[in-house]
Amino acid sequence: MKNNGDVLKLQCLKCGREYPLFPPRHKCAKCGGLLEYVYDYSELRDKLFFEGPLSQWRYRSVFPPINENRVVSLGEGGTPLQHSKRLAEKIGLENLFFKDETRNPTYSFRDRCASVMVSNALDLSYFSVLCASNGNLGASIAAYSSKAGLECHVVVPAEVDEGKLAQMMIYEVDLIRGGWTIEEAIKKAAQVESETGWYQATADLNPLVIEAQKVISYEIYEQGISPDFLVVPVGSGGTIYSVWKGFNELKEMGLIDSVPKMVCVQPEACSPVVAAYNKKPVKVENRVKPRTVVLAVLVSNPVYGEKALLAVEKSGGSAISVSDYEVLKAQRELAVFEGLFVEPASASTIAAVKKLVIQGVINKKEKVVCLLTGSGLKAPHILEELSRRKRLEGFETETGAKEEILKILREEPSYGYLIWKKMGKRITLQAVYQHLNQLGRKGFLTSYSMNGRKYFRITTKGRKALKALEGLKGI
Ligand SMILES: [Zn+2]
Repeated sequence: MKNNGDVLKLQCLKCGREYPLFPPRHKCAKCGGLLEYVYDYSELRDKLFFEGPLSQWRYRSVFPPINENRVVSLGEGGTPLQHSKRLAEKIGLENLFFKDETRNPTYSFRDRCASVMVSNALDLSYFSVLCASNGNLGASIAAYSSKAGLECHVVVPAEVDEGKLAQMMIYEVDLIRGGWTIEEAIKKAAQVESETGWYQATADLNPLVIEAQKVISYEIYEQGISPDFLVVPVGSGGTIYSVWKGFNELKEMGLIDSVPKMVCVQPEACSPVVAAYNKKPVKVENRVKPRTVVLAVLVSNPVYGEKALLAVEKSGGSAISVSDYEVLKAQRELAVFEGLFVEPASASTIAAVKKLVIQGVINKKEKVVCLLTGSGLKAPHILEELSRRKRLEGFETETGAKEEILKILREEPSYGYLIWKKMGKRITLQAVYQHLNQLGRKGFLTSYSMNGRKYFRITTKGRKALKALEGLKGI
């Protein structure tokens, strides 16, 4: 079997100390630095192959070695790169693309990580997989553990997207409560691992995540686009760093000439990396209890914060924050103009692009790729909001129409067709008759026949009701 185990090592980026490849660990025991899989790219170039259809495992020659027979796959990766037309035009760009990660098996990019980590757990003969997650990763690990027949334990903080929690529960995982924020949940997961010896699949605690996510760049490369900008929603910072690593590898191996400028996007309420970028000292700040609709990237103290900043600065990119209002607007626009229903974190990339075009950072001819990380169906508060709005709209037209009919009849008695015309035909004639019948049953109007037509006349009770309604509005 083709194996790249001899061209890579798991190494501390701070002090250079090397560790065995597996089981994956994230922190140097000596200096506390982050560990990463490091390749000898001149060697890797000779061993590089892309094999099979466009999917996560097409790129297994750039992964740490995993037994081919132990691969747990639900068809992750190989997601489309959509060329935007209508939204691009609206924003004023000629080359806007969406890497649509909502098309993964559990509707987020985290399936890439779950596939690689659960395969690795199986390969190393673990029975139990553990992760801390406030959403997408938990759902992914749960699904892939089910597929592999492994026990799954997810440490969930109180701040979790309900839809993603429901997604985890459908796989009957063992849910462990882990504090209020994702940081507290991660600490808990580390503690549980040391007590139980379960396989650690928390994104920030397993460097395989970086390897799994970096192939998003390989796919974009093979999809024939060399972006000038790559726009990524940033929580812990791991995702933007992974994508940047992928492009760096492609450059190191001579497959591309330049690495795209990486753009880090964060919600205004929680944007430690953006703050660090703007003030320049390379230290990521801590902020207490921020509130935002962009739950998926709500990380106050990002483990990969410095790495995210490195990706932005080395690539000559940018870091920008966007408001919840801008995010929800962009979410709507992606749906209405492109047919894509994404979660708020994903929509934040479009909100950022709009700002950067206005600021002149991105010019109209440049190629921009936005990473759409997860589906809008995972954030049910958005769905609830939409259906509530719909119901309210229905209610308002109902009462509005009845009020208008009573007003028309207060002027003079009239018949159905004429009332409908006076209302500007904004509802159907049939609906006008329904309202007339209902108002009649309540005793607000009576009817009589004249010249072969049925006329309606407002009653005293109807006048009083109308007056009360108008009085209410004057409050
Ligand atoms: Zn070290």
